[in-house]
Amino acid sequence: MAEKLLFTDARVRKWTHAASLPGKLENLLDKCKLERVVVKGEPCAIKMHFGSQGAFRTVRPAFVRRVVDAARKAGAKPFVTDTVRIKGIDYLDVAASNGICEQSVGAPVVLADGLFGKDYVKVDCGGYMPFAPVASCINDSPSMIVLTHCKGHVQAGYAGAIKNLAMGGVSAQNREEGDMRKRVGRPGMHLLHHGDVELNPELCELCGQCVDACPMDAVSIKDEKISLDRRKCWSCCRCVRVCRTGALKGPDIGPAFQDALAHVAKAVLSTFEKGRVFYLNFMMDVQPECDCMPGADVPVLADAGILAGADPCAIDNATCDLLARSHPIPGAALHEKGCREPGGEPFEILHGKSGRDHIKKLAEIGGFSVDYEIEALE
Ligand code: SF4
Ligand code: SF4
Repeated sequence: MAEKLLFTDARVRKWTHAASLPGKLENLLDKCKLERVVVKGEPCAIKMHFGSQGAFRTVRPAFVRRVVDAARKAGAKPFVTDTVRIKGIDYLDVAASNGICEQSVGAPVVLADGLFGKDYVKVDCGGYMPFAPVASCINDSPSMIVLTHCKGHVQAGYAGAIKNLAMGGVSAQNREEGDMRKRVGRPGMHLLHHGDVELNPELCELCGQCVDACPMDAVSIKDEKISLDRRKCWSCCRCVRVCRTGALKGPDIGPAFQDALAHVAKAVLSTFEKGRVFYLNFMMDVQPECDCMPGADVPVLADAGILAGADPCAIDNATCDLLARSHPIPGAALHEKGCREPGGEPFEILHGKSGRDHIKKLAEIGGFSVDYEIEALE
């Protein structure tokens, strides 16, 4: 069955508040029937990605504020949340510097898995991993609005609502020690039993980019020698992504990552009653890499607008279709790769993977739909 999605495009055609994008988002939210999603008088998680110190192109506070206001108007007590991506205390500071703080978004900003990223609930993951360590604030919240900045991703190809749910809904650190730490949660999804991050110092040119990228201070350069401290490493693979010489390598997990996203997203969604999760995809500032990276490159596609709906697969599939029709921006990474006209699969051109695989997989195992109908609003 085709899922109904609401859409407002990014263009401003009149110089009134109602015709501005924040005004158009207010209109869209009025039509989303959020009172059927939230539980009156109870917390509602507004799940977003806070970005990183150099990756500032997340969903802007002006939009987060409108969603918070709409959730409150629908009767919920909203809070804005994300899981710990770097040391928690630093991550809250990064969020504030990206404009995500209580004063700007109008609701408490909390770390879903606690200050140390260790507060989680073990949720069955269908045997795909020993368990999914779902962040306790997400597990315990009776409803959730998933606010996603859509962009590229090195392993997923496309990173949208499903990636936000899966990678962003689970803890990166687990209380268990040793190998267990790497077989579950975000590190487990990156490595999936295929090996570990390896360092070959002979190929290292001491550029220092991995030191800057590492959230755990696990890589260091001293006396012109590089070293990797495995006790600190949580296998996020950021160092691998920035190393241009091959000195740092992660296992090639190939298509397994797409399956991992689908299975973990399903586990996160299993903690909610049916109909209690709603999605808003922001197709703006579409940069080539994940917001975890130490920087945000210039957008690769013209802003498309905002989509809203209740099905994670329908909204992500529609997002991929709409972005495939957006114009590649001259001088940006996609254009540099020879993509000069709309059409094709922009994320596949960027990363060799389109991201449609994890969308289809979640639809198959989770009973969702990739089919959609769009109602375009003024
Ligand atoms: S994988 Fe690399 S960037 Fe991530 S924690 Fe380990 S050393 Fe640091
Ligand atoms: S990014 Fe690669 S080349 Fe640069 S310091 Fe790290 S390991 Fe060495």
